[in-house]
Amino acid sequence: GKSSTSRGVARALGLDYLATGAMYRAMAWYMLARGVDISDPAAVAALADRPTLTSTTDPDAPTIAVDGVDVSEPIRGEAVTGAVSPVAAVPEVRARLVEIQRARVAASLAQGRGIVVEGRDIGTVVLPDATAKIFLTADAEARAARRALEDAGRTGAAAPAAGDVAATAASLAERDAIDSGRALAPLRRADGAVQVDGTYLTLDEVIAAIVGIVEQACAAD
Ligand code: C5P
Repeated sequence: GKSSTSRGVARALGLDYLATGAMYRAMAWYMLARGVDISDPAAVAALADRPTLTSTTDPDAPTIAVDGVDVSEPIRGEAVTGAVSPVAAVPEVRARLVEIQRARVAASLAQGRGIVVEGRDIGTVVLPDATAKIFLTADAEARAARRALEDAGRTGAAAPAAGDVAATAASLAERDAIDSGRALAPLRRADGAVQVDGTYLTLDEVIAAIVGIVEQACAAD
């Protein structure tokens, strides 16, 4: 879904790439590693300033490290996926990560490079003045099938088991509900964002559509 799309857009346009979901996942990984009760917002808030998070921005090989340890793989596991939404709902976590995200974007721009930033609150909160904003949607079944296929690929399986797609659909629906319903920076379309529905498009078609939108926005800028 959105990661393959954003990376493809960045690659096509020669831009840097930042996945903010990976940063929330890295924060959740840190909390779990410290044995923090992630259902206790005060406990999560108390440690939100501690970890040093370092993201690299090559769309072909984005990585993220916590205190110098590359956690790109473990943050995709079930434990982190199950913990990330409550961690991401904690205001101190969001304040810290938004600050890091804006600094990362400023660093790219200072080097004369553009950047594709992917996440649920980028157009609404993090970068409301972005040159182009895209709100990417796809129906739930299509998203679950893609995510289950990705997960199967990571574990070396040829195809997801039948129950995996349903389990993935349930997990995505649960995270969407928490992410859309939270008080702070809920998932919603930003003012001025162009909605792209990827349900009936191939990955290359979605990328091409977004590249077109970005080129138009840059021309008008
Ligand atoms: O995009 P990804 O699935 O990796 O995001 C993981 C989780 O991180 C989301 O379910 C959401 O809770 C949180 N997130 C967020 N704001 C963002 C990006 C991700 O709250 N900008």
